[in-house]
Amino acid sequence: MYDLIVIGTGPGGYHAAIRAAQLGLKVAAVEAGAVGGVCLNVGCIPTKALLHAAETLEHAAKGAEFGLVFSEAERDLAKMGRWRDKIVKKLTGGVASLLKGNGVELVKGFARFTGPRELEVDGKKLEAKKIIVATGSKPAVLPGFEPDGEHVLTSTEMLRVENGVPARLLVIGGGVIGLEFASIYARLGAEVTVVEYEGQILPGSDPELVKLLARSLKKQGIVVKTATKAAGYEKAGGGLRVTVEPAAGGEQEVLDADKILLAVGRVPFTEGLNLEAAGVRTDERGFVPTNEHLETNVPGVYAIGDVTKPPLLAHKAMKEGLVAAEHAAGRPAAFDQQIPSVVYTQPEFASVGMTEAEAKARGLEVRVGRFPFSASGRALTLQQTEGLIKLVADAENDLLLGAHILGPGASDLIAEATLALEMAATAGDLALTVHPHPTLAENLMEAAENLHGRAIHIL
Ligand code: FAD
Repeated sequence: MYDLIVIGTGPGGYHAAIRAAQLGLKVAAVEAGAVGGVCLNVGCIPTKALLHAAETLEHAAKGAEFGLVFSEAERDLAKMGRWRDKIVKKLTGGVASLLKGNGVELVKGFARFTGPRELEVDGKKLEAKKIIVATGSKPAVLPGFEPDGEHVLTSTEMLRVENGVPARLLVIGGGVIGLEFASIYARLGAEVTVVEYEGQILPGSDPELVKLLARSLKKQGIVVKTATKAAGYEKAGGGLRVTVEPAAGGEQEVLDADKILLAVGRVPFTEGLNLEAAGVRTDERGFVPTNEHLETNVPGVYAIGDVTKPPLLAHKAMKEGLVAAEHAAGRPAAFDQQIPSVVYTQPEFASVGMTEAEAKARGLEVRVGRFPFSASGRALTLQQTEGLIKLVADAENDLLLGAHILGPGASDLIAEATLALEMAATAGDLALTVHPHPTLAENLMEAAENLHGRAIHIL
């Protein structure tokens, strides 16, 4: 009998298992696939490796501006694929060692509930006082565009750059995953078109920054069609003819493509888990609802990560894993935190907290501070001056409500803004803090100064 069994070793599951073991519990982690889950194997990490490789091509080309001219780059896609795999292997091997080093027993196999405290893993019975479900998510499917591994691909297949760069790639879905792959493949030489059903890419994000990002993607040669629905496709000659139409209805248009990437979101994965045997409920979308301790409707059975609720992000899964493990170990732990999000386009787009529109919809009077990277010395030296920092604060008490950053280093800069929100900082706190110069981070300070109408480096 274990104290705790964790099902799944993605970011949520391995964090939960390690923390529970650190707290002295006897822990097993069951994994049907590869240790590290989606994030390490086919998500966060391999995409960033490919983005870096693709962006290096662009950086090399930009060297001509300051007198460094390289001969034309040769692309060895097989080598790029091996490099991606090397990074994944190093990290997943690291997680396996961490599980072992912390005394977590790794059980390979597919788990299904046979009761609220017992599982069957490939015919073997396992029992535990508490169980954490961390089974993650899988790609959502759009009728008419069922992935077939040949014409319609998911993000997992698109990672395999060694299979070649399609001349024309049609991406269905202008969300995080769709835009990351659009960025990778456009740099690797594909003609990329992104079709998004909603009126803007990254629906829900600050429209002012999204507009700037859309302009930047256009400059990079990526065609973005918003308020557009992908209706169907057929094979024609050696390629594909994809029919799209205005989301509101209207005349159809045909786009030619060689491959289609389906990136219309992800859905919770609980297939074969037999949650019914444990009495665990799911909601109408298939997510497993929990309370603030990440406990499901069945006491002692927890759910964390993608399987519980959006946002489907690795760092949310990790934090939930820690909270569930601590609560399962009898500690007072609850999840009530700001969750930053990042889109790894070039420029990067990162957000935390409320947008201006969300704050206003809540009846708050807001003040907004902006600072463009075109006025940043550090951004100029990096040849990355596109984008803007936008801070939203409560006009009544100056409390920071949200930060939205489009620009170089946004993925790291958002961490400072997240800490500020967690600590209930005011825009004044950010403005008063001495930031090193020249850095990208000092632009957060300037945006906060601008919120009070007195940034030094812009009029
Ligand atoms: P997962 O990582 O999905 O892991 C679940 C694990 O459970 C899997 O290993 C699976 O094999 C196992 N499992 C499932 N059912 C069973 C069972 N019955 N028995 C045993 N094992 C089972 N997020 C970010 O924050 N940043 C990013 O940059 C980012 N990039 C992404 C890029 C792509 C292309 C994709 C697809 C996702 C990306 N994500 C990113 C999202 C991130 O990968 C997920 O949010 C994260 O992996 C969720 O972690 P998890 O622990 O909930 O589940």
